[in-house]
Amino acid sequence: MNSTTATDMTIQMTCPSCGSGVHVLPSLEAELAECDICQHQLPVKFQSEHLQGVLKDCPCCTRKDFYTQKDFNRKVGVILFVIAAILSIWTYGLSLVALWLVDLFLFKRLKPIVICYKCQTVFRNVKNTAEIPGFDHEMNDRIVYADHNFEGKPLSH
Ligand SMILES: [Zn+2]
Ligand SMILES: [Zn+2]
Repeated sequence: MNSTTATDMTIQMTCPSCGSGVHVLPSLEAELAECDICQHQLPVKFQSEHLQGVLKDCPCCTRKDFYTQKDFNRKVGVILFVIAAILSIWTYGLSLVALWLVDLFLFKRLKPIVICYKCQTVFRNVKNTAEIPGFDHEMNDRIVYADHNFEGKPLSH
Protein backbone atom coordinates (compact mmCIF):
# COMPACT_ATOMS: atom_id res chain seq x y z
CA MET A 1 0.00 0.00 0.00
CA ASN A 2 1.23 3.43 -0.92
CA SER A 3 1.11 5.87 1.93
CA THR A 4 1.84 9.49 1.20
CA THR A 5 3.89 11.62 3.52
CA ALA A 6 3.71 15.34 4.01
CA THR A 7 6.87 15.77 1.98
CA ASP A 8 5.59 14.15 -1.21
CA MET A 9 5.04 16.44 -4.13
CA THR A 10 1.38 16.72 -5.02
CA ILE A 11 0.00 17.82 -8.35
CA GLN A 12 -3.28 19.55 -9.01
CA MET A 13 -4.18 19.80 -12.66
CA THR A 14 -7.14 21.60 -14.10
CA CYS A 15 -9.42 19.42 -16.17
CA PRO A 16 -9.58 21.02 -19.67
CA SER A 17 -13.04 19.60 -20.17
CA CYS A 18 -14.90 20.71 -17.02
CA GLY A 19 -12.44 22.93 -15.13
CA SER A 20 -12.35 20.78 -11.97
CA GLY A 21 -9.16 20.17 -10.05
CA VAL A 22 -7.59 16.78 -10.74
CA HIS A 23 -5.20 15.61 -8.02
CA VAL A 24 -2.36 13.26 -8.86
CA LEU A 25 0.73 11.97 -7.12
CA PRO A 26 3.91 11.33 -9.07
CA SER A 27 4.19 7.75 -10.26
CA LEU A 28 6.40 6.35 -13.00
CA GLU A 29 3.67 3.91 -14.08
CA ALA A 30 1.00 6.57 -14.45
CA GLU A 31 0.27 7.61 -18.01
CA LEU A 32 -3.18 9.04 -17.58
CA ALA A 33 -4.89 10.95 -14.81
CA GLU A 34 -8.65 10.83 -14.73
CA CYS A 35 -11.01 13.63 -13.76
CA ASP A 36 -13.34 12.48 -10.95
CA ILE A 37 -16.12 14.72 -12.22
CA CYS A 38 -16.30 14.11 -15.96
CA GLN A 39 -13.91 11.13 -16.40
CA HIS A 40 -11.87 13.10 -18.90
CA GLN A 41 -8.39 11.59 -19.15
CA LEU A 42 -5.29 13.75 -19.07
CA PRO A 43 -1.93 12.44 -20.22
CA VAL A 44 0.85 12.67 -17.65
CA LYS A 45 4.54 11.90 -17.94
CA PHE A 46 6.49 11.50 -14.72
CA GLN A 47 10.23 11.11 -14.31
CA SER A 48 12.21 9.81 -11.35
CA GLU A 49 13.06 13.38 -10.27
CA HIS A 50 9.36 14.06 -9.76
CA LEU A 51 9.29 11.20 -7.23
CA GLN A 52 11.99 13.05 -5.31
CA GLY A 53 9.91 16.21 -5.35
CA VAL A 54 12.14 17.95 -7.89
CA LEU A 55 10.31 19.86 -10.60
CA LYS A 56 12.16 20.52 -13.87
CA ASP A 57 9.67 19.38 -16.49
CA CYS A 58 5.92 19.74 -16.25
CA PRO A 59 4.43 16.22 -16.14
CA CYS A 60 1.32 17.52 -17.89
CA CYS A 61 2.54 19.72 -20.75
CA THR A 62 6.31 18.90 -20.68
CA ARG A 63 7.23 22.62 -20.48
CA LYS A 64 9.89 23.88 -18.07
CA ASP A 65 8.52 27.31 -17.21
CA PHE A 66 7.11 27.70 -13.69
CA TYR A 67 6.54 30.39 -11.12
CA THR A 68 6.09 30.30 -7.35
CA GLN A 69 3.46 31.97 -5.24
CA LYS A 70 2.10 31.75 -1.70
CA ASP A 71 -0.61 29.16 -1.26
CA PHE A 72 -3.31 31.59 -0.29
CA ASN A 73 -6.94 31.07 -1.05
CA ARG A 74 -8.30 34.48 -2.12
CA LYS A 75 -11.92 33.38 -1.99
CA VAL A 76 -11.61 32.29 1.64
CA GLY A 77 -9.87 35.59 2.40
CA VAL A 78 -12.73 37.62 0.93
CA ILE A 79 -15.39 35.64 2.82
CA LEU A 80 -13.48 36.06 6.10
CA PHE A 81 -13.18 39.78 5.44
CA VAL A 82 -16.92 40.17 4.85
CA ILE A 83 -17.72 38.25 8.07
CA ALA A 84 -15.22 40.34 10.05
CA ALA A 85 -16.60 43.57 8.56
CA ILE A 86 -20.18 42.65 9.57
CA LEU A 87 -19.05 41.59 13.07
CA SER A 88 -17.07 44.81 13.48
CA ILE A 89 -20.37 46.69 13.94
CA TRP A 90 -20.81 44.91 17.29
CA THR A 91 -17.14 44.46 18.18
CA TYR A 92 -16.14 48.08 17.46
CA GLY A 93 -13.74 46.95 14.77
CA LEU A 94 -12.00 44.35 16.91
CA SER A 95 -12.97 41.55 14.53
CA LEU A 96 -11.07 43.32 11.76
CA VAL A 97 -8.00 43.47 13.97
CA ALA A 98 -8.45 39.75 14.71
CA LEU A 99 -8.76 39.03 11.01
CA TRP A 100 -5.61 40.99 10.30
CA LEU A 101 -3.74 38.91 12.90
CA VAL A 102 -5.10 35.64 11.49
CA ASP A 103 -4.11 36.76 8.00
CA LEU A 104 -0.61 37.66 9.16
CA PHE A 105 -0.24 34.36 10.98
CA LEU A 106 -1.58 32.25 8.11
CA PHE A 107 0.37 34.10 5.46
CA LYS A 108 3.66 33.55 7.26
CA ARG A 109 3.00 29.84 7.60
CA LEU A 110 1.96 29.34 4.03
CA LYS A 111 4.29 27.27 1.95
CA PRO A 112 5.01 28.45 -1.56
CA ILE A 113 3.38 26.56 -4.39
CA VAL A 114 4.70 26.21 -7.91
CA ILE A 115 2.51 26.79 -10.96
CA CYS A 116 3.10 25.90 -14.60
CA TYR A 117 2.65 28.96 -16.85
CA LYS A 118 1.43 26.89 -19.76
CA CYS A 119 -1.11 24.52 -18.27
CA GLN A 120 -1.76 26.14 -14.84
CA THR A 121 -1.00 22.91 -12.99
CA VAL A 122 -0.29 23.54 -9.29
CA PHE A 123 2.55 21.71 -7.53
CA ARG A 124 2.93 21.51 -3.76
CA ASN A 125 5.90 20.35 -1.66
CA VAL A 126 8.39 21.05 -4.44
CA LYS A 127 11.96 20.63 -3.19
CA ASN A 128 13.60 23.05 -5.62
CA THR A 129 11.16 25.94 -5.01
CA ALA A 130 14.09 28.25 -4.22
CA GLU A 131 15.31 27.96 -7.82
CA ILE A 132 11.96 28.99 -9.27
CA PRO A 133 11.24 32.73 -9.60
CA GLY A 134 7.98 34.50 -8.84
CA PHE A 135 5.30 35.36 -11.37
CA ASP A 136 6.42 37.40 -14.37
CA HIS A 137 3.72 39.13 -16.43
CA GLU A 138 5.81 39.34 -19.56
CA MET A 139 6.65 35.63 -19.46
CA ASN A 140 3.04 34.77 -18.77
CA ASP A 141 1.79 36.83 -21.73
CA ARG A 142 4.35 35.37 -24.08
CA ILE A 143 3.67 31.79 -22.97
CA VAL A 144 -0.11 32.04 -22.84
CA TYR A 145 -0.79 34.31 -25.84
CA ALA A 146 2.19 33.75 -28.11
CA ASP A 147 2.89 30.12 -27.08
CA HIS A 148 6.52 30.98 -26.44
CA ASN A 149 8.66 28.32 -24.77
CA PHE A 150 11.31 29.70 -22.43
CA GLU A 151 12.74 26.21 -21.86
CA GLY A 152 13.10 26.88 -18.15
CA LYS A 153 15.27 29.99 -18.62
CA PRO A 154 13.41 32.87 -16.97
CA LEU A 155 13.61 36.37 -18.42
CA SER A 156 16.27 38.48 -16.77
CA HIS A 157 15.34 42.09 -16.22
ZN1 LIG B 1 -13.39 17.05 -15.79
ZN1 LIG C 1 2.41 22.39 -17.59
